[in-house]
Amino acid sequence: MNKLIPYGLHEINEDDIREVTKILKTNSITQGPTVELFAKKIANYVGAKYAVAVSSGSAALHLAVASLDLKKGDEVITTPITFCATSNVVLYQGADIKLVDIDEKTLNIDPTQVEKAITSRTKAIIPVDFRGYPANLYQIHKIAKKYNLKVIEDGSHSIGSSYKIKNKKYMCGDCLHADICTFSFHPVKHITTGEGGVVLTNDEKIYKKIMKLRKHGVDRRSDMFDKNKRIGNWYYDMEDLGYNYRLTDFQAALGISQLKRLNKFIKRRRQIVNYYNSSFKDIEFIKTYNELKNIKSNYHLYVISVLKNKNFDRYDLFNYLQSKKFAPMIHYIPIHYLSYYKKKYNFKKNNFPISEEYYNGCISLPLYPSLSDKDVQRVVNTIKNFIKKFN
Ligand SMILES: *Cc1c(COP(=O)(O)O)cnc(C)c1O
Repeated sequence: MNKLIPYGLHEINEDDIREVTKILKTNSITQGPTVELFAKKIANYVGAKYAVAVSSGSAALHLAVASLDLKKGDEVITTPITFCATSNVVLYQGADIKLVDIDEKTLNIDPTQVEKAITSRTKAIIPVDFRGYPANLYQIHKIAKKYNLKVIEDGSHSIGSSYKIKNKKYMCGDCLHADICTFSFHPVKHITTGEGGVVLTNDEKIYKKIMKLRKHGVDRRSDMFDKNKRIGNWYYDMEDLGYNYRLTDFQAALGISQLKRLNKFIKRRRQIVNYYNSSFKDIEFIKTYNELKNIKSNYHLYVISVLKNKNFDRYDLFNYLQSKKFAPMIHYIPIHYLSYYKKKYNFKKNNFPISEEYYNGCISLPLYPSLSDKDVQRVVNTIKNFIKKFN
């Protein structure tokens, strides 16, 4: 009997287990030195100056947005094709989202549309590196400079992805075309800490603010102590309204151990993608998405589109795959289709036609480092058998 093959899966090995166990036997199990070491290693990996490791990718996004002091009436531009955490964090701060459509080739937010959507209320842009494919950060950064906006890169999918501009290589997360970038370490992402995330920046002020917001906005500094007033170094103050977004040391130990295998993971994912791409190349009505020349994606997801035709649609293929013991997924239900957002902003069908057309046809196929050649072959054969039924 074939086992169920999901669309994504984490990989935990004996090294991971040993590293986590080591920390569990020490006196520091919640946020401590291992969390800071993990953050430093992530910063070094992507080439950013500062990193703050936190309890989830959503927490990372929330702290990123919170560090910008958004208020009611402010607007943040983002994409409909993302997980709802991206837009939710903007609402947590009392600001509004403004969606703009995607580019049909990259499936990422379209910089031209971004520029058209800017108003006097716009304060920031959150591009998402959807499926690991870097958003057009170079163009978005240029637009942000022109209109004095902040850029938060939602890099939940894109640790290890890079792009070239004028022959210079940029890593997602290096924050050279963004003020802040966030990663997620949820088990479905490239490397995992169970739950976890990180905020990256090159801006010392933002870094310090996020460090403080991660621990309730509470700080203790020598300038708060006063011998004359009999205030000793027990004293602390709460200067901003913050949160408990701490990661634990044993999670960070898992992250450090996983990070050692990240490049290997990416290499395997890219192998599988190459095989998929060449296998589906000549199948009518199945569209694949290739990289532009200057892009190197880590391939968080492998999405295909079922193009409109009179024989079958995405619903048929999805159910067929399920019946053959695969667990494909749809990434994503567009933000403006979700009831909460539809009601709040009165979104209508056809507001974002490219996102909607993409959504109508998309399926994410199995893609993860431990997927065997045999299983990859089985995915390809299953899709070919499905297509054969209509010939
Ligand atoms: C996973 C994800 C998040 C949230 O990360 P969590 O670690 O699950 O909180 C945010 N945005 C995108 C695009 C994601 O895929």
